[in-house]
Parts: sequence; C-alpha cells; structure tokens
Amino acid sequence: MFWKYLPPMRLRHLPLLVLALIAAVPLAAQQARPKAKPKAAAVPVDPNRGRLPAVKPVTGPLDLTVVYPAKGDVVSAGEWSFLFGSTGTGDARLTINGDSVKVWPNGAFLAWLRFPPDSVMAFNLVAVRAGGARDSMTYRVRRAPRAAPQTTPLWIDTLSFRPQGRVWWPADEYLPLSVRAAEGSEVRLVLPDGAVVPLANSVGYDDVSWGVRAFDRDTASLARSVRADRYVGVLRGRAFGADPGPLLGAEPAPGCPRCRRRSAEGADTLLAVVEAIKGADTVRARWPLRVSLLDSLPVVVELNDDTAGTGKTDRLTVGRAAPGATYNWFFPSGTRANVSGRLNGDLRLHLSETSLAWINAADAHALPAGTPPLEAIVGSVVLSSAPKAATLRIPLSARVPYLVTETEKSLTVRLYGASADVNWMRYGGADSLVEQMTWQQATADEVTITLDLTKQVWGYRTRWDRTDLMLEIRRPPAINPARPLSGLRIVVDAGHPPGGATGPTGYREAEANLGVSLKLQTLLEQGGAEVLMTRTTDTPVDLAWRPIYADSVDADLLISVHNNALPDGVNPLTNSGTSVFYNQPRSAPFAMAVQTALVKRLALRDLGVGRGDLALVRPTWMPSILTEAMFMAIPEQESALRTPLGQRMYAEGVYAGILAYLAGQRGSGAGGQRGSGAAGQ
Ligand SMILES: [Zn+2]
Repeated sequence: MFWKYLPPMRLRHLPLLVLALIAAVPLAAQQARPKAKPKAAAVPVDPNRGRLPAVKPVTGPLDLTVVYPAKGDVVSAGEWSFLFGSTGTGDARLTINGDSVKVWPNGAFLAWLRFPPDSVMAFNLVAVRAGGARDSMTYRVRRAPRAAPQTTPLWIDTLSFRPQGRVWWPADEYLPLSVRAAEGSEVRLVLPDGAVVPLANSVGYDDVSWGVRAFDRDTASLARSVRADRYVGVLRGRAFGADPGPLLGAEPAPGCPRCRRRSAEGADTLLAVVEAIKGADTVRARWPLRVSLLDSLPVVVELNDDTAGTGKTDRLTVGRAAPGATYNWFFPSGTRANVSGRLNGDLRLHLSETSLAWINAADAHALPAGTPPLEAIVGSVVLSSAPKAATLRIPLSARVPYLVTETEKSLTVRLYGASADVNWMRYGGADSLVEQMTWQQATADEVTITLDLTKQVWGYRTRWDRTDLMLEIRRPPAINPARPLSGLRIVVDAGHPPGGATGPTGYREAEANLGVSLKLQTLLEQGGAEVLMTRTTDTPVDLAWRPIYADSVDADLLISVHNNALPDGVNPLTNSGTSVFYNQPRSAPFAMAVQTALVKRLALRDLGVGRGDLALVRPTWMPSILTEAMFMAIPEQESALRTPLGQRMYAEGVYAGILAYLAGQRGSGAGGQRGSGAAGQ
C-alpha cells in the first residue's frame, strides 16, 4: 500500500478495456508446453485458479490486539470506518461497542462500524470463548478535526480559512481569500490598519485557484457553483501580520511548529479579523495569515532537491500546478527559474507568461541579488545516434525549466522562458527511430521541439550538460517471439520497508511483497530474463533509490510488487480487489495486461488499472507498473499471502501478464524487428 507512505497522489480508475487478444496461457500448460502447438481445447484448466488457500484455523489463548488504527494514529473518518486486529483464537466471539463482529478461523477480525463522533473515540472490545474465558479492552483513537455542523444562526468556520499561514506575494497581484460563514451574512475582513475588504458569494476566486489537480481531476468539469456559505475576496498590495521571515529556505523545523505557530498567531494583534454580520449581531475571528510583499523581484533560484548533500535523492525537484496538487514537472538539479510567490512551504515559479509551477521551497536557493530575470535562447539542435539510444542536444544560453510530454509515437520538449534561434536541426545521419524533428515558438516565451518517431516510445530521459539540455530516446528492445523474455533485463521491486500495511494478524506487507517478488524472480529467470532485485532481504531500502537503480541498470521493464490498504472511511468488505497502477501513458497497456492476468489468476474483484503518481511508476526510461493484487486488511487475503501458494499465485499472475504484454508489443511493432534497433544509425 502507499496511502500513508508516498507523496500526495490521487487515482483515477480507468474503464477497463477488453483485452480479448491478450489471453494469458495458463502457466501449468506453458511450462509443460510440447513443441507442437496444443489445441485450445487441450489446455488443462489450472485446478487452483481463483482459489486462494483457505484460512488456516488457529486455536490459542484469547489475546485481543488492534492493529489498525495503531496507537497514535489520527483517523480522518466520517460516520463509518474500519478497525481490525485479532482475538488470538478462531473460536472467539467478539463485540465492539456492543455490536457483534465476525471472527475468522485464525482469530482475525475486520470491523466496519459506526465511529463515535467524539474527538477521542472509545471502542470497547469484548472477546469470549466457549469455555467462558473472556478478554476485554477499551481502545482509544483520535479523530482528525472536521468542520462541525454549525448550531448557532451566525458563525464563522475557523477551519475554512484559505490561505492561512505565511504568504509572500507580488505587490501588484491579487491574493485570493475564502472562508465559510453563515448563509446570508455580510462578511468582511478588517486589516490591522482598519482597512476593510468585503467578501462575497462568488465563483471568481474559489478553492479551484489553490487546489487544481494536475491530472486526477479535470478542472473544467468541477462544478464551480455559488455556495451560499462560501465567501471569497481578494487582497492586493497589503502586508500585515508579523514578518513571515525570509522568502527562501525550509519551513521551521518539526517539534509541533503548528502548535507554536498557532499560539504565536493567536496572540498576534497584527492579524486581520474576519467579521460576519447579520442585523445587530456580529461574530469575529482572527484569520491566521501573515502576508509579506515581494518588492525585490526578480528572484532567480537554482533548484536542488538534495541541499543536505545526502546523495540519496532522485535529483529531481517536482513541480505542481497548485500547492498539494499532483506532480506535473520534474526539474533536474541545476535547473534555474524565476520566483513569483510563496505559500507556506510551497514556492511559486514563474515559468513563462502563461505557466506557473509550485515546488518545495527547501529545494531552491537564490542566485546573487541583481541576477537578471532568467531567459534563454535556444540554439540549433543536433541529433546523434548510438546503438541503444538516439540523443538530442538542445543548446541553451541558460538552464531554463522545461517539460517533456509524450504521445504514442512522439516526444515534445517545451522550454519555458525561451526564444528560438534555431537556424537548423542537424541529424547525425538518418536515424531509424526519428522520423522528423520540428520546432515552434509556441508562445512569446515558450519554445517547443517535437520529435516524431517511427516506433512507439519505449523510454526517454533528460539531463543537463553545462547549459545544454540532453534528451536521450531509447530504442525498443528486440523481442524474440519464441522466447520473449530472453535478453530482457527486468527489475523487480518488492515494496517497502520502510512503511507498508499490516494485516489483522500482524503479517507485514513488506514480507508478503518480498515473498511474491522472489517467486516472480524465479519464474522470470526460468523464462530467460535477467532479473535484478531492489531488495532480497527485509532490510529497509530507500524509496528514492529504487527507481534510480532501475534507471542506472537500463532495465527494460520495472515491476513494483505491493499489497493494498484502504483509506479511513472506505468499507474494505465491499471495496477490496485487484488493481495495477501506472503513470506514463505508454505503460498503460503493460498495466492492463498484468491486471487482466492477475484477475484471471486470483479471481478477486477487478478494481481496474489506475493512473497513480507513485515513485516506482514515474520513471521515463522504461515501462513501469505497480501491482496491488490483494488487500492486507482482508483476513482471507492476509492469510493467503502468508502461504507459499498464495504468493505463487500472485507471482504467476504477474508473470502471465508480462508475457501477454510482450506479445502485444511484438504485434504492434515496437520490438520484434530483430536488429532494427542496432541497425538504426
Ligand atoms: Zn505498499
């Protein structure tokens, strides 16, 4: 699972496509396949298909344990949520807060129940067994604060202030504000100097301004309706509150900075006050916001995600379309950019007249004052060929931000803050991979360079060479139809530790993932692949290092093996099943082939493939997927994952999916023309 482990992400389940062609051959048949092609009717049905090993009964002393929520977890649930753990024995009867809860034969329980409304919730667990033995406990769990239903006629929701905290903003730009308050009020912000800013019901500046999601949510389809209890307004050219500190640098160190900040701001008489007025009644609340004006623009920064010099990062600074949104840009260390604002820990980069990106403020350091605004001239590009890749050199006068986008058979580099001086585009000879190159001054300060390819994109990557941007385009591997895995280098990543989910009886996801991954390694090696593992023991492996490793060894495919968990408030009894995630569009067929095969092998519910912004599916150098075949919280699935058979079934599903994917690639012409890659120069 990745919910509590990876950077913010959202998933969108795609409608499942019918992959009629990619019917995986059952493995038993495949391993014993005679030279002559068997008739379809002769393929034996695997008797274990879709039958997870049964839960093995456990009888022992009563020993009530709650695994989730763990001690100290803060649950963000609504009225209903789940709680799971074990009674220690399969012959116990369990009640939680008086409601009877199912106990599985191994003692596991998974309760979906009404959560008390209190901020500290108490759960009374009572387990009894036939002989009369009894165990009980009161388990307390904290609830995340939520907007409470308002009971008075006039109110201001103090959890709803947007933005709050520290803001650095250009003096000539509007800062959008929003707050929830009682319907039909007159709402206004009173600044410390007495100036009054009216707030009104409007769709002009709402949450969308701050919360645009890069690809999980189509902002055009967001209903931007007027909400009667939502009040919005704008501020311009006003600084107030205590000095928020320097523009650049990390947020204050941990150690409950939030509590400290809140108390500091609570006492801060320099804060603005919001008022809601109805007739003769007025309610007031301090708005915890400190605004500083950026009057010394431009500020030019150089990006580096490893300011501490650990050498353990992926050397990329990620950019988002809005604070908290998913990743949209990946800027290699050394990229420079113009800054145009900051909201708490998020720094806003002015990429061009039409593009903004938000990055972690700790990833930027300022160039000396007086550095002119960043802009670049794009020189004439040169394409050169090598056996494994074609490389495009883009000469630039400065390391400006850029974005690479792919379609099935093209790559486009968009350079921000750039103007073209491209007199020619030079090919180092006819490269069989590149059909044509074109460039365009797309806007006044954005240049695009597009390469149309003769084959599907297998992989690409970029790096800086002084101020030149280098784009490497990978040739697809040759796939031998008789032995599709032979010659391929595959990286198998057993997800976690650190982190990972835990099942009701305490089995760790990291152990399950490793068991499945080692079995997958064996299958792939028997099939002729060279397999490299990111780990083969239970020792924690840094998350950022894993995709870097796959890139450094030029893996042809990357598969990350996980088992799933659900966020609070989602019913695991009705929402569990199998899913596979990808990020780069070209990995979608890979994800769908493996999903189809896993669903066929495990016969669990088909949750479909999802596009997820996860570290292990982000690499661009090879197709990559992340599998979530089972759920740790479901007692049958946790129990199956503990067994060699359950692990093997998972591995066999992935293996069959890989073969199906490679068969599809052969058909679509990405590989298969043996030698065409090497000959392409
Ligand atoms: Zn996981």
